[in-house]
Amino acid sequence: HGSINAANKDLFTVSSPNVTYTENEIRSRYTYRTTSVEQSPDGKYVATPKETVYDFKVDRKVPKTGVMLVGWGGNNGSTVTAGIIANRRGLVWDTREGPRAANYYGSVVMGSTMKLGTDAKTAKDVNIPFHDVLPMVHPNDLVIGGWDISSMNLADAMDRAAVLEPTLKAQVKKEMAEMVPLPSIYYPDFIAANQEDRADNVIKGSKACPEHVEQIRKDVREFKAKNALDKVIVLWTANTERFADLIPGVNDTADNLLKAIENGHEEVAPSTVFAVACILEGVPFINGSPQNTFVPGAIDLAEKHNAFIGGDDFKSGQTKMKSALVDFLINAGIRLTSIASYNHLGNNDGKNLSSQKQFRSKEISKSNVVDDMVEANTVLYKKGEHPDHTVVIKYMPAVGDNKRALDEYYAEIFLGGHQTISIFNVCEDSLLASPLIIDLVVIAEMMSRIQWKAQSADGVATKDFKNFHSVLSVLSYMLKAPLTPPGTPVVNALAKQRSALTNIFRACVGLEPENDMTLEHKLF
Ligand code: NAD
Repeated sequence: HGSINAANKDLFTVSSPNVTYTENEIRSRYTYRTTSVEQSPDGKYVATPKETVYDFKVDRKVPKTGVMLVGWGGNNGSTVTAGIIANRRGLVWDTREGPRAANYYGSVVMGSTMKLGTDAKTAKDVNIPFHDVLPMVHPNDLVIGGWDISSMNLADAMDRAAVLEPTLKAQVKKEMAEMVPLPSIYYPDFIAANQEDRADNVIKGSKACPEHVEQIRKDVREFKAKNALDKVIVLWTANTERFADLIPGVNDTADNLLKAIENGHEEVAPSTVFAVACILEGVPFINGSPQNTFVPGAIDLAEKHNAFIGGDDFKSGQTKMKSALVDFLINAGIRLTSIASYNHLGNNDGKNLSSQKQFRSKEISKSNVVDDMVEANTVLYKKGEHPDHTVVIKYMPAVGDNKRALDEYYAEIFLGGHQTISIFNVCEDSLLASPLIIDLVVIAEMMSRIQWKAQSADGVATKDFKNFHSVLSVLSYMLKAPLTPPGTPVVNALAKQRSALTNIFRACVGLEPENDMTLEHKLF
């Protein structure tokens, strides 16, 4: 029911013996080329090109998809809801700078393009919207729902958020007034005490218990049935929680975590209860906040149930700049020696983060974002050496959602000289985060329709098609502290994250990775 057959909507097809299209599937045979390196005793390397052949299978039926936001009544939740409604209805509203129309600026999926190839006649690049590379859900078609500990309807929540223009709000008010968040679970110790006054919509009980898991699963099932959905994705955009202590026997394994919930252990966070419920219900769960929702036991549980998870912490402003700028500096051979990052913001997120334990979650999430780039450059940095890095966040009610981020990058250049780069970044936080929520949902949903099979992994073929790993590290571009499968490296460099995403999607339709050699323009 409700499924749209994408077959007639394809903007392009791939003409290759390795790619076949059927009514319901795109199949591609793809040769993945890597380089295997060995170091000999004299310290020299031997690099050997390696090939693995994969079969990819993409389900072309675009499902009717719902998204349930935890923290629906917050700044992000109300802004993304209004934004989708505005796009769906093609709204135009008046501002002091003239009329503005709904758009999806800031979304990689909806606002960016990728090079399909070169025009056969003119040799010019042919670019297509990112959204068209695979049969993805259109955000206008998403059905939105969710939970909040505040009972405010979405129209009032939008007013409380103070993000959108009144002329836009007026046009979506009626529809949003009908949207009321489901009651949620509230364990006061996990978020700042200053949030207590908005908690008027809570499910009974103030620590983890099986009834809470059951209630969330039931909410998901009812939402799915009521809206005749094929799929639901749940995303945490509720307050930043404090970190949960990692306790052996409590949250280290799937079984122990389930037991801890059974016993009402105090160290199981609401976000982890949501994650567990979604994993058991088989719906993808994405964490947009910095806390350690995905304790080892939660990751273990996701792997056991083949359920998709992704996180942590939306990468919207300061950190996104950082993961692009530091990548550039270090790859330019410039020795970055310190980064000082200051923020002040006046929205409810800022209010919550004014409490030390919740700030600490954000500080951790913002701190490790340059590690991979530093470690990769053995010319500029000795083993273990890294730039000084400090992060400060202050609550300043007057600036509201217009977060300020001030960054100083201090670097050593040629022959002992110095370069100081100072950045002052101002923007509505929720207008940056909302398109990321859309990207996370659309891409996570797409990933759940891609399967793979190895033709020859060390000479042995895998028999059956399998899903991607439970931990969707392909979402890294949108996240500050990307969660990766246990034991695998974290990539923070923004350009690498983007090319992983584009090239995996290209592989699924049998296209080579984006390659900027343009030999066709150089060798004639
Ligand atoms: P917000 O405070 O406006 O919204 C959070 C909402 O969550 C509130 O309505 C609150 O009532 C609700 N809530 C709290 N605990 C809950 C629970 N247990 N169950 C259900 N609802 C609960 O904050 P925001 O600006 O929308 O940001 C949301 C989260 O996203 C924050 O953790 C923030 O750190 C994170 N984040 C935001 C950005 C950004 O650019 N806006 C970037 C990175 C991360």
